[in-house]
Amino acid sequence: MLGGRDRSLLAGLAVAVIVVFAQPIERYLLNLVQEAERSSGLALGPALLILTAVFVFHQQGKRQEARARALAAEADAMQAGARTAGMERLVNFGQALGRSLDLETIRDVVMQHLPTLAGTEDAWVLLRARGRWQALVGTTRETRREVERAREHVADRALVGDSTLTTEGVTAEGHFCLRLAAGGDVVGVLGLPETGGPTTEARQRVLATAGALLAISLRNAQLFHEIRETSLRDGLTGCYNRTHALEVIDTELRRARRSQLPLSLIMFDLDHFKDINDRFGHLCGDAVLAGVSSKMRDVLRGSDLKCRYGGEEFLVLLPETPLEGAKRVADSLCREIADMRVTWNDETLSITASFGVSVALPAEIDGQALIGRADAALYRAKDQGRNCVRLSIETAVA
Ligand code: GH3
Ligand code: MG
Ligand code: MG
Repeated sequence: MLGGRDRSLLAGLAVAVIVVFAQPIERYLLNLVQEAERSSGLALGPALLILTAVFVFHQQGKRQEARARALAAEADAMQAGARTAGMERLVNFGQALGRSLDLETIRDVVMQHLPTLAGTEDAWVLLRARGRWQALVGTTRETRREVERAREHVADRALVGDSTLTTEGVTAEGHFCLRLAAGGDVVGVLGLPETGGPTTEARQRVLATAGALLAISLRNAQLFHEIRETSLRDGLTGCYNRTHALEVIDTELRRARRSQLPLSLIMFDLDHFKDINDRFGHLCGDAVLAGVSSKMRDVLRGSDLKCRYGGEEFLVLLPETPLEGAKRVADSLCREIADMRVTWNDETLSITASFGVSVALPAEIDGQALIGRADAALYRAKDQGRNCVRLSIETAVA
């Protein structure tokens, strides 16, 4: 076996031999060619020259071909590497979304992953809910309203004539837009301004996959929210159930203690409700309960917690509201319920309710005590003729 050093020694020897014998060999070869030319009458010299030139060209061509193949293989490898990296980014995005069941968490995930996936910080996402747009990501505080309005316009354009819910992108007003569709609904639009660079086919593929993952995640969050809401609400009236209300009251009491803002509670009970059931049947009673809850929605603020505490007893928690404010609310609810008319089997009936109002004492955190005081006030309202509002004695004195 020859080692690397032996080989170079041999090569050196060969070169030395060629240098020493170069001239005699050359002379000998030329003589040989001239001899052969003379004896055969053929032009071997020029032929050899042509053959040598052809051979050199051929070799060079082969070398160039090999170099081109190597370059193509390198480009392929780079492309495959980029594809794998892109795939990994998509998998990470999908896994992070899989762990997100609410909009806030989804927003954080999108803010973290979208710039890398889209290859630009300028990508944006608008959500579509109940016919309105809501920005998920892609606006800074300074430009919020202006940019959002422009994007809403773009997103509207992107949805024009939409019924096919394709995952292919459309270009609208200088933005490449992807509809985020899941479960047959468009849940939003993902947009990329032209200023964010060319939307190559590879980029579109990545965005389409990211968009599909995001759409599914948004739909899941929506469904999760709906299921949670259903489990917290009473089916007949749509009010929160008692268990949830008790939790919220405790949370709000702690918040009120921190913020030192007032927190009031109204408890009301329908008057002689049993008579309605007895005279018109329970279905009619149910219709009255639904009517009362609908009146509550009309009269009360969205931020007030509406709860069905028992059969025909309701609680309303009013954050940031002092006792006098809560009394005004109770008075108007009392009036509105008394004025309400329910039609049942060609009969028109009316109902009244009695109200008790309490307010959280300074630093109070006991929800049951707050409810107890409202309940006591409600009993006084019942004793004092019904269809009226009474305030908790403790708070009235305090
Ligand atoms: P008061 O003025 O003293 O409150 O008299 P009331 O008849 O309203 O009071 P009571 O507590 O005696 O009756 C409450 C009734 O509410 C008894 C029950 O049949 C009825 N009720 C409770 N839950 C439901 C419900 O979900 N649907 C119907 N239709 N009735 C209900
Ligand atoms: Mg009652
Ligand atoms: Mg009752």
